[in-house]
Amino acid sequence: MPEIRSNPVTGDWVIIATERARRPEEFTQKAHRAPLPPYAPECPFCPGNEDKTPKEQFRVPSPDGGWLVRSVPNRFAALTPEGNVERHVHGFRSFLDGVGLHEVIVETPAHNLTTALLPVAHVERILEAYRHRLRAFYEDRRIEHVIVFKNYGEAAGTSLTHPHSQIVGMPVLPNQLRARLEEAVRHWGNAGECLYCRTLHEELEDGTRVVAENDSFAAFVPYAALSPFHIWFFPKQHGACFGDATDAQLADLAAVLREVLARLHAGLQDPDYNYVIRSLSPQEGSVRYFHWYISLIPRVTKSAGFELGTGMFINTALPERSAEYLRGVAIPA
Ligand SMILES: [Zn+2]
Ligand SMILES: [Zn+2]
Repeated sequence: MPEIRSNPVTGDWVIIATERARRPEEFTQKAHRAPLPPYAPECPFCPGNEDKTPKEQFRVPSPDGGWLVRSVPNRFAALTPEGNVERHVHGFRSFLDGVGLHEVIVETPAHNLTTALLPVAHVERILEAYRHRLRAFYEDRRIEHVIVFKNYGEAAGTSLTHPHSQIVGMPVLPNQLRARLEEAVRHWGNAGECLYCRTLHEELEDGTRVVAENDSFAAFVPYAALSPFHIWFFPKQHGACFGDATDAQLADLAAVLREVLARLHAGLQDPDYNYVIRSLSPQEGSVRYFHWYISLIPRVTKSAGFELGTGMFINTALPERSAEYLRGVAIPA
């Protein structure tokens, strides 16, 4: 019989298709990505084309005078950085001025590399850039919420191949975060504990859905994973703001993130994916009911009318088997 699992963190119901679940290897992608050159002369993110991007806001320098990671305003920004955030109310209708910050974080000078194949030390530099930009965005008092995310591959919403992530600061709190906050506050009120610390404790105790782990991070397929190979990365130490992560924690996160991406790369043949950092602001970093984390969604299936019409999910992969499969994938050291 299928199970309708409850995801307490998101507040979602997920139908886990236990009987007609597909085997993990059935989610393997066909050879779908054309091989890329290490350098593309027309690419605005390749070295030598720095003047083709808007003014650089941050860089992690390389020892040879170049850069390892850089952050630049998005040329096609969703929001404009100039102006004040005014609220306009006209009877039933209202809008805010579309003010916000939007940068592209170029993850490496190499046009053809992907995080799964980068050295862990380089992944650490990318995370340092995320942390720096997130802190800087929150210093702007117009910004209510900051989201860091990566779209990898066309199914994940990007056609730009040079490795990059994005960061957006907006003057409103997105509904998804509000819903998670409400669940977290409710659990704090009912149980007097952080919902995320408890979830992590249960997952580590059970162990069947854990994919990778080290001193300060664990990556696991949630019990009620919303889609096949959906993976959460939780810091073991409680904290509500990613910007407060220490250098040692970022090093551990880089190792776990790189390992999981390498397992997906080898196990499912380089699937498209999105990941997102869910975090509160540094001002809220010490709240006890929320816990920052990363959510990774390989785009190996499409959601359809049922998901759109209900906000529920159907997951055709068993979380336990997905995790077991990924643990068993051989990856280069
Ligand atoms: Zn490039
Ligand atoms: Zn916690």
